[in-house]
Amino acid sequence: MTLRNDKYLAILEQIRWGGQPKCPYCESDNATAYKSEKRYHCNSCYTSFSVTVGTIFHKTHVSLDKWFLAIRLVMSSSGGISVRQLASEVGVNKNTAASMLKRIREGMKEEREMLERIAQIKSL
Ligand SMILES: [Zn+2]
Repeated sequence: MTLRNDKYLAILEQIRWGGQPKCPYCESDNATAYKSEKRYHCNSCYTSFSVTVGTIFHKTHVSLDKWFLAIRLVMSSSGGISVRQLASEVGVNKNTAASMLKRIREGMKEEREMLERIAQIKSL
């Protein structure tokens, strides 16, 4: 994981948790941070997790800076953005852009507040 991605993870943690890590599996806030990466160990259910678990960013190979950009583009285009347009602006291939677009649309139903806050981040 790159340092750059860490910065985005930190922003996501702030938006989602307000700085207090919360286990996505058992809702406990009794977690210990690992030294490397932005991962946590839950002291209640003994799983490890990061802030992306349970969000549209979970298990994706696309870096968070690209996700943040994609979210901003999708949410700011009133008429909707095409897969081709998203692919060229974010710098991913069309298959990746299509799956990102699908996840973002799902996220707009279930995680809208988080996406709106991400869309407001202008530049980093
Ligand atoms: Zn837990």
